[in-house]
Amino acid sequence: MAEQHSYACKDYPGMESCPFHVNTQSEEELWQQMELHARVAHGEDPGQWTDEDRKYLKTLIKSG
Ligand SMILES: [Zn+2]
Repeated sequence: MAEQHSYACKDYPGMESCPFHVNTQSEEELWQQMELHARVAHGEDPGQWTDEDRKYLKTLIKSG
């Protein structure tokens, strides 16, 4: 079976009220979905995310 990767926006501090949750089979696709969500729902620019931001987000990704 392919590995699953998931991310829940509410796990991010300050985003507790956001219901967004994504589940993909590749980590690359997961990042694309996370970036799209951040852009559309939170008005963020993922291009401005620092390595620290991405490192922290990665700790919130559940793989298995
Ligand atoms: Zn969100």
